[in-house]
Amino acid sequence: MARIVSVVARTVRVPLDRPTAFANRQVLARDYALVKVRTDDGLEGIGHCYAGNFGGKVVTLAVRELLAPHLIGKESTEVELLWKELYQEVLLHGRTGSVMRALSILDIALWDVNAQAAKLPLYRYLGAATRDPVPAYGSGGYYLEGKTPEMLGEEMASYLALGLQGVKMKVGRLDPAGEEKRVAAARKAIGPDALLLLDANNAWHDVPTALRYCERFADYDPYWIEEPFSPDQIDNHAKLAERININVATGEIEAGRWRFKELLDKGGAAILQTDAAVCGGVTEFKRIGAMADCYGVNMCPHWFHDLHLHLVAALPNGEMVEYFADDQVLNFRRIIDRQLKIVRGKGLALPTDPGLGYSFDEKVIAKLDAEAWA
Ligand SMILES: [Mg+2]
Repeated sequence: MARIVSVVARTVRVPLDRPTAFANRQVLARDYALVKVRTDDGLEGIGHCYAGNFGGKVVTLAVRELLAPHLIGKESTEVELLWKELYQEVLLHGRTGSVMRALSILDIALWDVNAQAAKLPLYRYLGAATRDPVPAYGSGGYYLEGKTPEMLGEEMASYLALGLQGVKMKVGRLDPAGEEKRVAAARKAIGPDALLLLDANNAWHDVPTALRYCERFADYDPYWIEEPFSPDQIDNHAKLAERININVATGEIEAGRWRFKELLDKGGAAILQTDAAVCGGVTEFKRIGAMADCYGVNMCPHWFHDLHLHLVAALPNGEMVEYFADDQVLNFRRIIDRQLKIVRGKGLALPTDPGLGYSFDEKVIAKLDAEAWA
């Protein structure tokens, strides 16, 4: 038993070395909202989320003003009760988006501190579903000025060379013919058998346009097409899934088990990419994962491999994590103190340290901007 004695939050803005483009936007910097939850046994749990180019302070404000006061003095292991109370607080302010991210990262910090108290890595504290390394795919394939399809192919092959189980690239920014050249180059570079994943980042608005692209892509045997539409267009996801021979994957910016249920009921996703730092924390991720299992749907969570490795290893329908080999696009890697190791051909080695198994690198964070923990 341990009581929560302090909750602090802050924003960190980490600039990208090079402007990097997706189907429908360009990124220059990334904001992360960070929290630390301390208990009276002297342990400290952490939580973190991505908050867009400039939205970090919206999340940290929600932590400080809305949610943190609610946690002080409470028993840290009562995660379900605390989740219910925090959710009551967010009802008026945001059941998805920044306020839900604030709830999510506090919930993650509670699981971290509780697993530390139990002296177990988080995946074991959650009831390990495996002892093996967690399969991982190399994620990248962004649009950069001057990057040719051949260069994209080399990048994809480099992820397989690291010993990862598949590769992912962006699609949807160019016209269908231009995108087909990129997908063809990626398939050629990785050979016929490796998993090739395509991420459209909400590129399309209507089913006919999505079909024009996906029918060309199908020749290159992609395992999934990711986020073809905005998360609100659940019906479009379902219609596209009916028309193509490629699995539809989505869910990285969706929150709450009810919206995921609607997505699954309508047949809008064959794979869920739920992000614990977005959907409502570890507590909500577990619920969504169990529900997805009933639909025969596996969990392939969105980025933060350091966090999500634990959840994939703890769920019977956890399939693989998204791994960023460099720190250019997922520059969160720069602000933590440990990195996961790849076991060649198998995936990411399960950590042995208690809790999440990593902390923030305060020296690096202090240099990035002037905002203090509060
Ligand atoms: Mg994505």
